[in-house]
Amino acid sequence: MAQGKKIVIIGGGIIGASAAYYLCKKGYSPILLEKGEPAGEQSGRNWGFVRQQGRDPAEVPLMMRSQELWAGLESELGENIEWCQGGNLLLTNDAHELKLYQNWTNIAGSHGLDSKVVNQSELADLIPRIEQAFLGGLYTASDGQADPEKATNAFCNAAERLGAKIFRNRPALGVEIQNGKVCGVRTAGGTLEADYVVCAAGAWASKFLHPLGLRLPQQRIRGSVAQTTVCEKTTDIGVWAPGVAFRQRRDGSFSIAAGNGYEVDFTLGSLRGSKHFLKSFMANRKYFDIRFGAALWKDFGGLAKNFVTGDDPVGLRRVVAPTPNSARLARALKNFKAMLPSLGNVELQRSWAGYIDITPDALPVIDALKKPDGLVVATGFSGHGFGLGPSAGKAVAELIADGKSPIDLSDFTYARFPNNTYPEPFQLV
Ligand SMILES: Cc1cc2nc3c(=O)[nH]c(=O)nc-3n(C[C@H](O)[C@H](O)[C@H](O)COP(=O)(O)OP(=O)(O)OC[C@H]3O[C@@H](n4cnc5c(N)ncnc54)[C@H](O)[C@@H]3O)c2cc1C
Repeated sequence: MAQGKKIVIIGGGIIGASAAYYLCKKGYSPILLEKGEPAGEQSGRNWGFVRQQGRDPAEVPLMMRSQELWAGLESELGENIEWCQGGNLLLTNDAHELKLYQNWTNIAGSHGLDSKVVNQSELADLIPRIEQAFLGGLYTASDGQADPEKATNAFCNAAERLGAKIFRNRPALGVEIQNGKVCGVRTAGGTLEADYVVCAAGAWASKFLHPLGLRLPQQRIRGSVAQTTVCEKTTDIGVWAPGVAFRQRRDGSFSIAAGNGYEVDFTLGSLRGSKHFLKSFMANRKYFDIRFGAALWKDFGGLAKNFVTGDDPVGLRRVVAPTPNSARLARALKNFKAMLPSLGNVELQRSWAGYIDITPDALPVIDALKKPDGLVVATGFSGHGFGLGPSAGKAVAELIADGKSPIDLSDFTYARFPNNTYPEPFQLV
């Protein structure tokens, strides 16, 4: 009986958590291993935008399905996840970018998505408090936002209620293979038998898959986020403008970030697969600061032990909590206040950062592999995975239960990397 199959999920981010939930809904009782706490890494540290607009066309059907799922999640999971379908607005002062937005509305139209280009006066109607002029923007009313930590934990809690076992502070140390098929997952407490293993290990996936002979090119970049003091109710729209991105939370505070501005904390691991990233890195150089700091020195310290992997060995009990870039956040706050001066004296009350895992084409891998059979990879969400979380987890459950998903996943295969058949990244935001 299919439901008797043993499934072990590695990673308690939104992808692993939603996969666990949708597998339970299909009658399975998966085990989820999380090396730290669920939502401890990207899934609890992101901006919380649930956005369909501006995505790679390959992701649009999966994202539109996610949007439908998000709309019902608060009642389905039975928890406050701060879901708000208030729309998303991408602003620009660049005529070329505005043209790209216009082009993107054609893609949106072909999928029946409600994206449109707005001018200054329409912008003033959408968010009257914005006192800065913009050439225009891309607006999608059906987009939304949610609280990252609450949403991810709500999936875990609902999965647990339906019979999943969530093991916290329990790293997966490796996958056991017998006759070309997965048969178990090694942990410090012994080996767990498995007919299927789901690798949803986020920024650690490439490293985790390496001993299996799988070469997933994956890099990580550091993004910083802050929460402001509570402000007057201003907007339900998530906004991405030059120099600042923001969304207002249920308590009235804003999550703000610098928009397109990240750090690359160089490690020896950064060299792995770097040839795949060089071209797009150079094309986007202005968005990145490279840091040769603590992360690299730590690598040199562990060189003798762990040359190939470069990073910290997977297996330590921890949550990676990188340092936020306070200078970047200060600039973001300044830009935020310049856009919304009537909010008065807004301050930052806390800040944090997270490592975003990216693939060379900025598309995820969602794939049930044949070698080894039984390994399902769901990772590489490249800064878009919070929004995609529900549908990606559901697709994983469908791949295991039904052997296929109703959504076309052919752009998300693992083989596109070893075969060098992946496209250039689609870039709008
Ligand atoms: C600053 C920032 C802003 C972002 N903004 C947005 C946004 O607005 N909208 C959006 O859609 N996306 C956004 N993203 C991207 C989004 O957060 C990610 O794409 C998504 O959370 C990825 O989910 P995941 O489950 O794959 O990875 P993660 O959330 O990183 O989860 C992976 C988990 O696996 C665990 N793990 C790793 N190795 C092991 C092991 N060996 N054993 C056990 N556990 C292991 C880790 O501890 C981790 O908890 C942002 C990301 C960041 C960092």
